[in-house]
Amino acid sequence: MLVQADSELFAIIEDENERQNTTLQLIASENFASRAVMAATGSVLTNKYSEGYPGKRYYGGNSVVDRAEDLARRRACQLFGAEHANVQPHSGANANLAAYFAVLEPGDTVLGMRLDQGGHLTHGSPVNASGRLYKFVGYGVRESDERIDFDALADLAKRYRPKLIVAGATAYSRVIEPEPLRRIADSVGALLLFDAAHIAGLIAGGVHPNPVPFSDIVTFTTHKTLRGPRGGCIVCREGLAQAIDKAVFPGLQGGPLEHVIAAKAVAFHEAMQPEFKQYAAQIVRNARSLAGALAEEGFRIVSGGTDNHLMLVDLRSFDPDLTGKVAQEALDKAGITLNRNQIPGDPRSPFVTSGVRIGTAAATTAGMRETEMTEIATLVRRALAAPGDDLVSAAVREEVATLCSRFVPYP
Ligand SMILES: *Cc1c(COP(=O)(O)O)cnc(C)c1O
Repeated sequence: MLVQADSELFAIIEDENERQNTTLQLIASENFASRAVMAATGSVLTNKYSEGYPGKRYYGGNSVVDRAEDLARRRACQLFGAEHANVQPHSGANANLAAYFAVLEPGDTVLGMRLDQGGHLTHGSPVNASGRLYKFVGYGVRESDERIDFDALADLAKRYRPKLIVAGATAYSRVIEPEPLRRIADSVGALLLFDAAHIAGLIAGGVHPNPVPFSDIVTFTTHKTLRGPRGGCIVCREGLAQAIDKAVFPGLQGGPLEHVIAAKAVAFHEAMQPEFKQYAAQIVRNARSLAGALAEEGFRIVSGGTDNHLMLVDLRSFDPDLTGKVAQEALDKAGITLNRNQIPGDPRSPFVTSGVRIGTAAATTAGMRETEMTEIATLVRRALAAPGDDLVSAAVREEVATLCSRFVPYP
């Protein structure tokens, strides 16, 4: 249908389909959603206006849509053992902003992980609304083992008396234990928000500790390891339900994307199946295997390894002059897609960086396992040994295409 209605745009989508099928997707925040998830996203639910919540809408004709959103909310609660869910946030960033809006006043003090230590823009960066509206104090990792420094975090909490502590990260490869965070929050009477954007799928799959019983609010994205449609979600205690719902709508958003909410329901259902547990476990095994193989190729892995779906690679041990920017571009040419990333204490700017971030969630969905991870490490080393050499990148690109032809996400 699209090819007839708009051949120009159709050709663009076909090209992207081809790119995803033939090159390696190693961006830690990406995945391949199922055809069922994409079908729901492309459904007639996109046509419906439904400002408000099930049973309390501002427009007529919502009895069907109410069933979809109720189903999504019920499944989110079941999946994470939560008392209340809001499935309307358009993205992870919106979910976080809504959580802040629900429990903070402008100017309030908040503890969050520093961006240059693995935190997210929405955890208080000065270029983000979070940093403009609230007084964020940053915590980070220990220099010695590059793991979250809970003692320093506890000291900061005592000194600054934050109203909220934000946990969670975007470039951190270790388990984030929710228990010590709860203890620190309680010791100063702070609320605890756990941002599980990256690891929601690992939590749902039972391979990472569930922060819900320890947190006042948990936010997450539905499109990273959880493998659903692009979007956000908030779960919280019943006592905060009303504040959270009011913060999302009418606080920050207008009409919800009911087609995406329906797709979230599909993804939650998929994540409840026994196969998803195996999937989550395989993501972690693949990440461990890839980190080990890269270390053997001469790359230093930040913190010495990984417990989740991602790793931060310090390129300086391989080549002191190789920047993340150059590495990202060289790998792009070789058909390997990932992103540059600062490593803790990086002397280079966020635009240049000394590292790259690599994730295994998408490759695992495509069906790759430990053997392929070893192969990928070799391909990365070959491409980065000669970053400006077009012959090398063409040769690696061909091998990447051969590898990907055995694991096509959308045949
Ligand atoms: C990805 C991410 C977000 C934001 O998600 P978007 O959907 O891109 O807005 C928020 N927090 C963390 C920790 C993330 O990794």
